[in-house]
Amino acid sequence: MTEDTNRILIAGGGPVGYTAAYLLARRGIPVVLLEAGDKIFDDPRAGTIHPPTLELLATVGVTPLMLERGYVVGNYHYRDRRQGVIADFDLGVLAQDTPYPFRLMLEQHKICAIVRDLLLEEYPQYPVLLNHRVASVTQSTDGVEALVETPDGARTFKARYILGCDGGRSQVRKSMNVDFEGFTYDERFLILSTKYDFKPHGYALTNYIADPEQWCALFKVPGHDETGTWRVVFPMNSTTPEADIFAEAHVQWLIQRFHAKDGDYDVVHRNIYHVHQRVASCYRDGRILVAGDAAHINNPLGGMGMNFGFHDVFNLAEKLDRIWHQGESQDLLDQYDRQRRTVAQEYLQRQTIENKKNMENKDAAAQDRFYDELCGIVADKAKQRQYLRRVAMIEGIERAASIA
Ligand SMILES: Cc1cc2nc3c(=O)[nH]c(=O)nc-3n(C[C@H](O)[C@H](O)[C@H](O)COP(=O)(O)OP(=O)(O)OC[C@H]3O[C@@H](n4cnc5c(N)ncnc54)[C@H](O)[C@@H]3O)c2cc1C
Repeated sequence: MTEDTNRILIAGGGPVGYTAAYLLARRGIPVVLLEAGDKIFDDPRAGTIHPPTLELLATVGVTPLMLERGYVVGNYHYRDRRQGVIADFDLGVLAQDTPYPFRLMLEQHKICAIVRDLLLEEYPQYPVLLNHRVASVTQSTDGVEALVETPDGARTFKARYILGCDGGRSQVRKSMNVDFEGFTYDERFLILSTKYDFKPHGYALTNYIADPEQWCALFKVPGHDETGTWRVVFPMNSTTPEADIFAEAHVQWLIQRFHAKDGDYDVVHRNIYHVHQRVASCYRDGRILVAGDAAHINNPLGGMGMNFGFHDVFNLAEKLDRIWHQGESQDLLDQYDRQRRTVAQEYLQRQTIENKKNMENKDAAAQDRFYDELCGIVADKAKQRQYLRRVAMIEGIERAASIA
């Protein structure tokens, strides 16, 4: 390997790609980050950060910077749209499990920018190349070659490995011999952002609100102006055109039907997303690897996808370090695949599919049983702790570590 190729390419400058680059740089592994876009995208996606993610990011100095900007959320509501609060979960019961017994609400583009700034400040020698889109990847026994579309035309980048953090439509994954197994929901998820304050009406900063006709999720993030913005998420059928969904009258009708108030809502953003449940059939093909949404995608109920991507790259960076600096076997990369893919299937997929089913259950008797179960959980501290260890992603990370 020449000096030039003794490095790792990271495809994708989303939260997972920037974090992967920063973790590897900190471990003395040269990186080049290739991002198709010209900036960090700030569309309203992840906003919920779970305790194990805060623990991991604390080891590299990121968490204190996030805590300065986000909202610490110690409790969240499970509600029924007609009956009101069913269960008020207290994340404080996790105090013996984590130094961060809460959720942090902070938008993903802000986390991404925090990590990018650390990378650029501390490791200016490692290029972050915007407007560089990885088109395809090939490999030999000792390296990879990525064909990259750049503003100056197509260029080939060589390296020892490439890590695809290039999102759900990953071009890197498409260059691997793997499937992206799972399904896509018929309905889409609409997100409306408003400055209207729901807190005086008794809502927690995070609320999951079940309903057989139209569930919704309501939570507060700092927002673009840092003064607080509420996001309201509704399911939308697959047939209505976007222009009709986004029409002011429709948007006002939806949100007023959820929470009636005098006068119109100040709706500052409206976005719609297709939602999928898929996991790559392998996270490694020789020297080509995937992490984050490139490896697994899921519905956002429970706020887990990005968190899971962070967990992927912390796991992988430690293994690449052992291979790079201690000459350990590349078989460690198969362990990365086993550990992270197993929990993506067993835990991430199962939990998020279940979260959505619980929100939209049309069987009234079954829903009553579910609500009784939730009430039983919050009434008993030990049960609540056990439940929250799962939904706060602590169990998933422990399960991954237990896989040889
Ligand atoms: C509505 C919604 C709410 C969500 N809420 C949460 C939440 O609260 N908590 C949570 O954990 N998760 C949540 N998620 C999921 C979260 O948004 C994703 O898991 C997260 O964005 C994944 O990060 P990533 O870096 O893997 O991919 P992305 O954020 O998709 O970033 C991929 C990057 O790669 C770039 N790229 C793409 N193709 C190429 C290429 N060929 N070459 C180079 N670059 C390329 C893209 O431009 C992009 O910058 C939510 C998702 C949605 C849609």
